[in-house]
Amino acid sequence: MSKKPTGAETISEALMRQNEEETVSEDEEPRACGVCGDQAKGYHFNALTCEGCKGFFRRAIKRSTQLRCPFLNKCSITKNNRRSCQACRLRKCQAIGMRKEMVMSEKEVLERRIRIKKKKMLDTPIQLSSQQKETIQELLCGHRRTFDSAFSSFSGFRPMDRIILSVSEYNQPTREPFNPLTNCPTNICTKTSKSATGPRTSSCANFLSSSSFCGSFEKQKNREGEEVTKSIIFTALPHLTDLTTYMIQDIISFSKSLQDFRSLTMGDQIALLKGATFEIMQIRFNMVFNAKTNIWECGHITYCIDDAVRAGFQPLLLEPLFKFHHTLRTLGLQEEEYVLMQAMSLFSPDRSGVQQHSVIDELQENLALTLKTWIDCKRTGPEKHLLYPKVVACLTEMRTMTEEYSKQVLQIQDIQPDDISPLILEVVSRNPCDDF
Ligand SMILES: [Zn+2]
Ligand SMILES: [Zn+2]
Repeated sequence: MSKKPTGAETISEALMRQNEEETVSEDEEPRACGVCGDQAKGYHFNALTCEGCKGFFRRAIKRSTQLRCPFLNKCSITKNNRRSCQACRLRKCQAIGMRKEMVMSEKEVLERRIRIKKKKMLDTPIQLSSQQKETIQELLCGHRRTFDSAFSSFSGFRPMDRIILSVSEYNQPTREPFNPLTNCPTNICTKTSKSATGPRTSSCANFLSSSSFCGSFEKQKNREGEEVTKSIIFTALPHLTDLTTYMIQDIISFSKSLQDFRSLTMGDQIALLKGATFEIMQIRFNMVFNAKTNIWECGHITYCIDDAVRAGFQPLLLEPLFKFHHTLRTLGLQEEEYVLMQAMSLFSPDRSGVQQHSVIDELQENLALTLKTWIDCKRTGPEKHLLYPKVVACLTEMRTMTEEYSKQVLQIQDIQPDDISPLILEVVSRNPCDDF
């Protein structure tokens, strides 16, 4: 009885192959072919036959042409004359019990070959091509040179409003119960501002339902006159403007460090940067986001969502943004995955104003494939198959936020024009611009 592992086949195929090739074990006496008397090596199609009669039977069944005996249908088949009458040889085959249904059809053979090939491909470990490795290296290198995750060179900016205000205002005796969407459970940012220059601002705990905040926003917007526009309503805005400007400059440097980016026309470089800056900034901030405390840990400074509220941003942006940071952070991405995500966002062919659509499309596709291969190679566990689609979903999610961000920046600009930097305005403006 047989023996070799049959690999890729289905159970029925494996059984069929065994039937075809059952071998007489070596310690048994050699036996004679039931058809021609030659030495039989095993059972083929249900009967003990020689290799010659096995092949003949398969061919005869597949040809399915009617065979005719030139004599009396009584030819005796021997090793020496077995070729002389095919009709009688086939009749003998069937007489000793060889079964035509055990011969695989051409289609079955082809299917089996494909299955074996597929199995081989699955068994070969997926590997990053040298091109893909180079891409990742270039991205990592560019990213590390342009992202100061400790925010150590982040200095000389206008101070955060909560640093100006007295410390006692930031200390609350009790902590509110943890709720990731509405609470910011740290003392440094749960507070109600009593800034003399502007209306009251909301805390993390109520930023999503802060109707009074939104009301004051509208009122300020509708009124006209110097006094109103010059007053500092959004107390965190000067600092966050400086932070954002600093981040944008780094993102430009990052993009410029990439060979593929440099090879694009200036117009397309600008179109891509305008489209992706907000997204890349969020991806970078996500790398320092602590999903347990809801705090962005930027070295010596930490931020919470309330800081953005006090810079004038509204729930329509902040709510999905906060969810996005939680979702993405929970994926536990590695640095390589984060940089590939940044590059996929950067090389988005459908940004407004892009000319070399197909070139950028191909670049993005290569990046997507690199990320997919990276995940296939480097990740383990059942969740790895869902990781790539989840990353793509996060990128898609950011698309709508980019538009809302631009809208809100322009609204803030209307109210407090002096504090938004030209660079930020350039990023959010729709008009094509000539230089960065
Ligand atoms: Zn034979
Ligand atoms: Zn014959």
